[in-house]
Amino acid sequence: MRPVTNWVSVVLDLPLGGPFDYRATTAVAVGDRVIVPFGHRKMIGVVVDLPSEPSYDPALVKDVELVLQDIAPLSQSWIKFARFAAEYYQRPLGEVILPALPSPLRSLAAYQGKRAAGGPVARLDKRRKAAQSEAMQSVVPTLSTGQQAAVDAIGASEGFKAFLLFGVTGSGKTEVYLHAAAQALARGRRVLMLVPEINLTPQFEQSLRARLEPVAGPEGVAVLHSALSDGERLRAWLSVQRGQARIILGTRLSIFAPIDDLGLLVVDEEHDASYKQQDGLRYSARDLAVWRAHDLNIPIVLGSATPSLESWVNTQKKHYQRLDLPDRAREVTLPTVRLVDTRRLQMEHGLSPHLITAMRERLANKEQVLIFLNRRGYAPALHCNSCGWVSQCSRCTTFTVLHRAHQGRHQLHCHHCGFQQRVPKACPECGDQDMQPMGRGTQRIEEHLAELFPEARVLRIDADSTRKKGSAQALFASVHAGEVDILVGTQMVAKGHDFANLGLVGVLNADAMLFSQDFRAPERLFAQLMQVSGRAGRHSGHGEVIVQTGYPEQAVYQALLKHDYTGFAQHTIREREAAALPPFSHQALLSAEARELQTTLDFLTTARDIATTLATQLGSAEVITLYDPVPLRIVRVDNMCRAQLLVESTHRPAMQQLLRHWIAELNQDPSARRLNWQLEVDPLEI
Ligand code: ADP
Ligand code: ZN
Ligand code: ZN
Repeated sequence: MRPVTNWVSVVLDLPLGGPFDYRATTAVAVGDRVIVPFGHRKMIGVVVDLPSEPSYDPALVKDVELVLQDIAPLSQSWIKFARFAAEYYQRPLGEVILPALPSPLRSLAAYQGKRAAGGPVARLDKRRKAAQSEAMQSVVPTLSTGQQAAVDAIGASEGFKAFLLFGVTGSGKTEVYLHAAAQALARGRRVLMLVPEINLTPQFEQSLRARLEPVAGPEGVAVLHSALSDGERLRAWLSVQRGQARIILGTRLSIFAPIDDLGLLVVDEEHDASYKQQDGLRYSARDLAVWRAHDLNIPIVLGSATPSLESWVNTQKKHYQRLDLPDRAREVTLPTVRLVDTRRLQMEHGLSPHLITAMRERLANKEQVLIFLNRRGYAPALHCNSCGWVSQCSRCTTFTVLHRAHQGRHQLHCHHCGFQQRVPKACPECGDQDMQPMGRGTQRIEEHLAELFPEARVLRIDADSTRKKGSAQALFASVHAGEVDILVGTQMVAKGHDFANLGLVGVLNADAMLFSQDFRAPERLFAQLMQVSGRAGRHSGHGEVIVQTGYPEQAVYQALLKHDYTGFAQHTIREREAAALPPFSHQALLSAEARELQTTLDFLTTARDIATTLATQLGSAEVITLYDPVPLRIVRVDNMCRAQLLVESTHRPAMQQLLRHWIAELNQDPSARRLNWQLEVDPLEI
């Protein structure tokens, strides 16, 4: 009998090209992982097609070395999803598919050599212990009318429908997700819930497990996020792929989980920028979730107190259905907001007398206080009082940030390239020793607060204080346990947390974000202020928010005073429409970096010329705007100079078509090989 010959198209994790054709002499299916020779090495790839004949001379086609059968093939519907993501974000399919797998499943070493006996899946299964359920019984509250209406609407939807759950902070959106999820599980379907940052919301996982494990079983809940170890991730991923996990909770990467039978998708805090991946495949997990729900013909719930303007406009166009939760669930009022005009005030270490007095009262009343300052470190820079020298990074065009390091010693850190150095004993310019911290970061505020309120227990939560795995969870647990009186933190403390006893929120230095060039800055600032304000008075009511600002008349602050998202959105949408900015147009960003700025500008100019010609050839010149290449605001990072070119269009298909041709030409262009460049579709920051 002749051996079977199957032609297979295989994608590999390579930045260029593919799929690549191979010959298989054993049975193979679309979605199988295979080991194939590539150049001088071997790689693990995924079969995405079984063509009837190879795309080039069969004599040159190499053989598949091994078909890996330790897991079931990836499903057709999942590959279709990956294909959409690759096409939409203009990346090779292999760069989507392979990184979506847990690393042991795509690492050759895991399948070769002595240690590889059986492969990573077999090894894991051997070690597998019965999962233990940590769920206590939890109390299910009676839903409010608004919550019930939302749950009913989601449950009644047949096929694809996008809901925007627009609920003020503390309105009980989580409860709606849990009920909607339980409905989907009861129908035998599975649920994917996305949250912006899972290690910050252990409470979410807890209530999810407590409430849904009884329905889904102890192995029915899987959690996927990037802080898992390889083994943990593989275990969770396998339970998803094998259908054991019925409900999957995860951060943005879990949108690529291989789930069949999905019945509901939930994206909590849908406006959150963490849904955007900022390197490699620069996808928006929220946008992909909407596509996936549409493709699978199932409902999706996007929840937020401050929806992205993209989603808001979609409700206005009736593409999405709005579900409103205008009141807090616990029958408490939203906090009162006070703007303290700092222009005429004598401040004490950056704190206004109003804030200090309010803090005293709350602390005397045994309530917790949150001080929000979105700037980590001790001070944004070190400054020489004699000559005006300011600490700067030698590799980047930025200031280095003063940090309090071990044993109270100070260091200078660059937040862009990671460079760290000791504080110079004397000014490098003039030799004077009178150098002072300039401005304030969370560490310095923490220090002041400890002096000002010696009786109070002060805790700082930011990226520096939570570097160790699990430490954020422990710190938040101590806040919830009432072991902290004053919490100081960056945006890490602003999101999601249901603090029971927090009465007062003080916001320092929000103005820093007010005058950014990025057209989305006011939207981001407003969302952040609403979020952090929403931490006050969640259980007892009578919460207060004090915002220190030199610009109280700004629209952002005026809207915040009234908790007026709708007014703010209307105002901002009008501005965007007038300027034809997203969501009234679509953008893509070509960025490049090289040692010399001129190299990047030259490349982008060439790229712009290519795009201009293409747009004319494709007949889309009228609907596409190509801007001039410009250097980035922080032009040099880690000794690389950066510039970008913005493309804008009111017509998405025309834009997609242009980008496809453009990428293909750029990949061929010799000048493109001399530097790093990338194309980002729907950039969030420009
Ligand atoms: P959101 O995510 O909308 O900010 P949460 O889901 O955290 O709000 O809910 C806020 C608080 O209200 C939580 O402590 C939650 O347990 C409580 N809660 C939610 N729904 C109800 C309800 N129907 N009755 C009483 N309390 C509720
Ligand atoms: Zn000096
Ligand atoms: Zn630097």
